Amino acid sequence: MSADQRGENRYDYLIVGAGYAGSVLAERLASQHGARILLVDRRPHIGGNAYDEPNEAGILYHKYGPHIFHTNSEQVSDYLSQFTEWRPYEHRVRAVVRDKLVPIPINRTTLNELFGLDLKTDEEAADYLASRAEPVEDIRTSEDVVVNAVGRELYELFFQGYTRKQWGLDPSELDKSVTARIPTRTNTDDRYFADTFQAMPANGYTAMFENMLDNPLIEVRTGVDFKDIRDSVDYDHLIFTGPIDEYFDFRFGKLPYRSLKFDHQTLETERFQDTGTVNYPAPDVPYTRISEYKHLTGQQSPVTTITYEYPSAEGDPYYPIPRAENQELFKRYEALADATDNVTFVGRLATYRYYNMDQIVGQALATFRRMDEKRSAAPREAEVEAA
Ligand SMILES: Cc1cc2nc3c(=O)[nH]c(=O)nc-3n(C[C@H](O)[C@H](O)[C@H](O)COP(=O)(O)OP(=O)(O)OC[C@H]3O[C@@H](n4cnc5c(N)ncnc54)[C@H](O)[C@@H]3O)c2cc1C
Repeated sequence: MSADQRGENRYDYLIVGAGYAGSVLAERLASQHGARILLVDRRPHIGGNAYDEPNEAGILYHKYGPHIFHTNSEQVSDYLSQFTEWRPYEHRVRAVVRDKLVPIPINRTTLNELFGLDLKTDEEAADYLASRAEPVEDIRTSEDVVVNAVGRELYELFFQGYTRKQWGLDPSELDKSVTARIPTRTNTDDRYFADTFQAMPANGYTAMFENMLDNPLIEVRTGVDFKDIRDSVDYDHLIFTGPIDEYFDFRFGKLPYRSLKFDHQTLETERFQDTGTVNYPAPDVPYTRISEYKHLTGQQSPVTTITYEYPSAEGDPYYPIPRAENQELFKRYEALADATDNVTFVGRLATYRYYNMDQIVGQALATFRRMDEKRSAAPREAEVEAA
């Protein structure tokens, strides 16, 4: 049904959450299907965790921690490029280890600087790492992955303290998937990501979301929780991008998340550190990393804004805790979701998995394609019935 056939308070879709998942679907359904959308978010802004804004000093900072865009998917970069120009940016991270600032992921430079070596080739670095590695027969945990690849000393220097802080658990208690993502390099490439497309939206993430949602068929209401409007809004279909356990009133218990506290500071100095992020793996430092936004955004100013990240058990849900029993609990909620008609669950909180921004854009575009196929199939089914 088209928008003008409906009453003012009727919507084709109610979409909960104005992050990537909700905003991409709102944009696709409005622009491609002419659907009328109500998009709500309980936070006072759009953009979800990628939200950025200028602070009092005029520095563009990321309210929920530094977000760096990178992808290998042309489909995703092409899609987002409709709504933003890009500023090329390759993220670099250093770690403070034994009072030295060394590249992370571990590469040949890291080994040379930390151990006073002079490894000149990939082969020499690979041989060195192999000589440090302590083979683990049955790799089950994060600790096994790292010790097996680089040995106990590098494991303790770079991973053990950081992981304990980040997750509140020892690496020996975490799935191998947690550190399986962290590459070790034998060359001197010190970029944090190796993706083909690495760039920041030229005017920031929030401006990109504003462009995405700039359609008269999309009504955006921020500062509005789903539970406060679920019974008063008239809609055909619900798209839910919030926490799946919350949707089902925590019927089977809470899905465990790790949270973060962000301490944003503006300093009267032009530059605070040499790279966008510096990690602090040492267990006696309470924060995990410090990021400086001007590296990411290219903004010029005599002052600078940095963010300290303090992992925390309490607060907004950021990282699903990757343990087998949590996945089992999620599967019970997923089964309920599959049996719930007329609701589409999409996004990182509804699928209880850590995803990067590009993966969520990809997930939302795939969800739209499925809806689109269903819609094109529908008239044919009706024709068959009539025949
Ligand atoms: C500290 C940190 C750093 C990150 N850095 C990067 C990075 O560098 N690069 C990268 O690619 N990815 C990064 N990510 C991941 C990125 O944030 C996510 O991939 C992305 O935000 C997921 O989008 P989403 O729409 O699924 O979820 P979200 O962005 O979380 O959006 C969901 C929205 O739903 C709203 N909501 C939930 N429940 C309700 C309700 N009941 N009623 C109304 N609204 C509701 C929430 O308020 C939220 O705004 C980072 C994540 C974190 C935590």
